[in-house]
Amino acid sequence: MQRIVVLAGGVGGARFLRGLRAAVPEAEITVIGNTGDDIHLFGLKVCPDLDTVMYTLGGGIHPEQGWGRAEESFTVSEELAAYGVGPGWFSLGDRDLATHVVRTQMLTAGYPLSAVTEALCARWNPGVRLLPMTDDRVETHVLIDTTDLPEDQRGEGEPGRRAIHFQEYWVRLRASVPAHAVVPVGAEHSKPAPGVLEAIAEADVILFPPSNPVVSVGTILAVPGLREAIADAGVPVVGLSPIVGDAPVHGMADKVLAAIGVEATASAVARHYGSGLLDGWLVDEVDAGSVGDVETAGIRCRAVPLMMRDLDATTEMARAALELAAEVDA
Ligand code: GDP
Ligand code: CA
Repeated sequence: MQRIVVLAGGVGGARFLRGLRAAVPEAEITVIGNTGDDIHLFGLKVCPDLDTVMYTLGGGIHPEQGWGRAEESFTVSEELAAYGVGPGWFSLGDRDLATHVVRTQMLTAGYPLSAVTEALCARWNPGVRLLPMTDDRVETHVLIDTTDLPEDQRGEGEPGRRAIHFQEYWVRLRASVPAHAVVPVGAEHSKPAPGVLEAIAEADVILFPPSNPVVSVGTILAVPGLREAIADAGVPVVGLSPIVGDAPVHGMADKVLAAIGVEATASAVARHYGSGLLDGWLVDEVDAGSVGDVETAGIRCRAVPLMMRDLDATTEMARAALELAAEVDA
């Protein structure tokens, strides 16, 4: 049986995983999920990326939106707003809230996040093994300049650099101000969750889906030991570009790429991961011109359609990634 490890963020990772599962239904797929986006709201622990993967593969996702639950209502959020209790900018539906209540209850009882995630997945049967990258608390913060904010949003205190939670940057500010740095706070002291290093060591192939290279895959790679384990696994590592035609596919990944000094192009992202990590890289057909550039960097590259329009198109992308993995392995 083929064992595949995938490093996943939220929407991009989850949609790709649906295609991968369809492409190789017999494979044993382990997903290492990003938890740097996690946030505490209303006393609840919210894990947006883990939930997006769980709901997408479990059939509970809002299909057009790509995150959150289908057939959602917002009664609790409306009631909280009536008390003047925010933040109002983070949408938490009633169905979704139940997940966070169960998670928080289990964490409070002393279970690690990995065990909680397994328990939540027992309901959703995602058809993959979903592991958080770590059981430790890691929170991605973004360094902004308050002088870049509209005057009514600058808040109290001296104007200047301020670190804000990634969700505040992404969801409240819609990445509308420059990010000067992206810091996975707590990552340097975190340990890979149980099963993560074992899954990597036992993998036949490791895939980077078209997830955000900075705040999804980058955060996972910031957990000490993970990058080394992947580089030393001795199996093909193949990624798919989230950048198509020099822009992220409906997203704002360019904003956080700029913060780490990486151009928003398919080849720049491949070179950012580097040949020490990546053996193969898929770019979209519109970026076929960058294949040579990527190969010069020592990474085998192919141009194939990379738009996850529907399950068939996404399944084809997963097949192409596995074919490239077989090719670099030969
Ligand atoms: P998030 O945590 O919800 O932001 O999701 P991910 O980090 O897993 O994925 C976000 C990335 O997916 C964005 O940078 C997009 O550019 C990329 N993406 C979304 N849809 C597509 C698609 O259809 N094709 C490709 N190639 N990338 C996509
Ligand atoms: Ca995310």
